[in-house]
Amino acid sequence: MDTVVILGGGACGLSAAWELSKNGKNVVVIEADSSLGGLCKTIRYKGFNFDLGGHRLISKNDGLLNKISELMGDELLVSERISAIRLNGREFQYPLSAGDILKQTDMRFVTGCLMDYAFQSIYKRIKHRPDDSLEDWIVNRFGNMLYDTFFKDYTSKLWGIPSSKLSSDWAAERISLLNLWDVVLRLCGLGKNTPRTYTRTFFYPKYGIGQIFEYIGEEVKKNGGNIILNARFKRLLLEGGRVKGIIYNINGKDEVIDCDWVISTIPITDLLRTLDRGEVNQGFNVPLRSLRYRSLRFLNILIDKPEIGRNTWTYIPDGKYIMTRIQEPKKRSPHNAPDGKTSLILEIPCFYNDEIWNMPDDLLFKRCIDDLFKLGIDIKDKVIDYFYTREKHAYPIYQLGYKAHLEKLVSWIDGIENILVSGRNGLFRYIFMDRAMEMGFDAAMVIQGKRSKVEKCQKYTQK
Ligand SMILES: Cc1cc2nc3c(=O)[nH]c(=O)nc-3n(C[C@H](O)[C@H](O)[C@H](O)COP(=O)(O)OP(=O)(O)OC[C@H]3O[C@@H](n4cnc5c(N)ncnc54)[C@H](O)[C@@H]3O)c2cc1C
Repeated sequence: MDTVVILGGGACGLSAAWELSKNGKNVVVIEADSSLGGLCKTIRYKGFNFDLGGHRLISKNDGLLNKISELMGDELLVSERISAIRLNGREFQYPLSAGDILKQTDMRFVTGCLMDYAFQSIYKRIKHRPDDSLEDWIVNRFGNMLYDTFFKDYTSKLWGIPSSKLSSDWAAERISLLNLWDVVLRLCGLGKNTPRTYTRTFFYPKYGIGQIFEYIGEEVKKNGGNIILNARFKRLLLEGGRVKGIIYNINGKDEVIDCDWVISTIPITDLLRTLDRGEVNQGFNVPLRSLRYRSLRFLNILIDKPEIGRNTWTYIPDGKYIMTRIQEPKKRSPHNAPDGKTSLILEIPCFYNDEIWNMPDDLLFKRCIDDLFKLGIDIKDKVIDYFYTREKHAYPIYQLGYKAHLEKLVSWIDGIENILVSGRNGLFRYIFMDRAMEMGFDAAMVIQGKRSKVEKCQKYTQK
């Protein structure tokens, strides 16, 4: 029987393991963490559930949704979100609503935005200004005034670099609106289809997003698959253009697994850094240095109060506050906190090992509580407890020129016959969990001979 080693027990790796184990493959999942789910895991503490930031399941793939509903049964809820942008002491509904914008600003601001947009549209046509950077992309479509008000501070806080240095690919993938005209149509209720940003309802398990992946893990085991937690992948064993095995470390000891296939969902840069100098081209040093990830530190606060506000989450673009988003998990599922209590998750962007990543717990807590107070959320006397989670590889950064570096690495890996790189960090793609799961199922199809490797690679590396 073929042995397939899957590096990473997140949404992508577990979906591949589920499909392959169901179809008779000998599957071994190697996961560095002590629990399953990767970026979609849920941490349970004193009766509270905390995701890594907020997660919601949305997909246009009915087959995928049916599979998950069947697996979860009554444990999958349909929730409705309310989200907002807190800016200059005001709270704007998000997605934007016409009445709200007029109520919160004034005609001068709205007219200014429209005139600026009209000017940019004409200027763009005359000058043919390209969409190279994220800043170009937004200004070309929304004008300077909206860019300065809603996007500039938020993007530089989130990414840690100005949007003039980020590729427009991120916007093209993430900002579902075409331009200001599209916004106006939507505000008047005339928008055509419903992009992800506008979806109000979503699926969410009773006890946190990680529950989906805990259930999938159980299925893999029932099918005879082996899931090894607290196991860190160390290196590939290559021979004659193929992987013949892998080495991982568990409890300080190296172990070897011989295999016929490897699916890697761990960060592509980490995978390649494990190779010997003789195995990889020296030309990889620059791509490996250039493909960077943005990290997140999450402050999880347990609160002795039934509710904080009405929002599922709130964006905080203003650079003077340390967090980019505030989440109230109970708004996704009432089971995320015990009766009469609630909690908050603050998403704090940083780089691995920088000042914020390393800030002492109590200092950062004090800073966050002060920021919350200034934002009108006074919980000082209501905190039951708090703890942090950190994610080193939260967001792949689409820095200008990243694509050429990525293509160099991916095409080298594709030259190895029996390895597939997949998933968000595996392919350095800013994707959501539904897409990560689809990628896992697709990788399983390749291994079962139902799809060619070339077909899969083309689907996910080209846009
Ligand atoms: C703050 C935030 C909010 C998000 N919100 C949403 C949302 O609302 N909806 C949505 O659909 N998506 C959301 N996403 C995206 C979603 O989390 C990802 O698309 C999805 O989890 C990616 O799954 P993956 O399996 O590809 O990668 P990962 O989840 O990163 O899985 C990779 C796994 O590999 C493991 N690993 C890494 N290195 C090693 C090693 N050396 N050895 C062994 N194991 C290793 C990791 O521990 C991890 O478990 C969000 C992401 C973030 C950061």
